[in-house]
Amino acid sequence: MRAQGEAFRLNKRFAGRTPGALDFDDVAMALGVLVISHGVSGASARLVRGKEGGRIRLNPKIREEGARRFAIGHELGHWLMHESESQMFVCSASDLRDYRESPLEAEANYFSSELLMPTGLFRPLMEKADPDLSLIKEWATLFRASLTATTLRFIRDSKHDCIAASIKNGIVEWSWKKSDGRRVWLHRKQQIEPGSLAWELHQGRCVPDKMEVVDSAAWFRHLPFRFSGEVQEQSISMTSYNAIFTLLWIS
Ligand SMILES: [Zn+2]
Repeated sequence: MRAQGEAFRLNKRFAGRTPGALDFDDVAMALGVLVISHGVSGASARLVRGKEGGRIRLNPKIREEGARRFAIGHELGHWLMHESESQMFVCSASDLRDYRESPLEAEANYFSSELLMPTGLFRPLMEKADPDLSLIKEWATLFRASLTATTLRFIRDSKHDCIAASIKNGIVEWSWKKSDGRRVWLHRKQQIEPGSLAWELHQGRCVPDKMEVVDSAAWFRHLPFRFSGEVQEQSISMTSYNAIFTLLWIS
């Protein structure tokens, strides 16, 4: 795929051979793109292509280093691959999770994910691993990536069938599943239910920091068919986002 190839070349050019080594601001500068950490409020990031070079503006709410690196990588993907399509990209938070709806957004995300977590470094770590947010958090730290980007990358590359979800105020804000996974899904704005670990966290209770088998009805009552598989769940509090992050493992 073109995105992976472009990222591979950049990693090679800038000697990104150990996890987290690449400085994304430096890479942008070397490609003629200036990164400014303010000047966008509605969207997450914006790229403008000018005669003198490019300019990436980031939403100042993107404070976490991993999220900032992913957003820069995403815009650099547009910069390197989409010159003939547009001279300006305004990218939302959901664009930065889009791996299948918009071909350009998806390509920019594949590019950024590969730049952050080169396949040659990431795959040996995860290919035999069971879904586990504690491990995914370790990898996120190692690659200086966000928990979201690392989880989505794990779900994409893993042989296991998983769904990630971000929950705010007891409601699923967004969820993300493997494209060739089982035919189960979460609804946007789905309310979390008793029987799930996310519900326990939402009630202010402690939950184990590992995968636990939960009642599948707590997550999939809305399906138009009876789901007979097993659901394991790991949920953690994301206090800085006032949110809960959930990984479901479906088998
Ligand atoms: Zn974009």
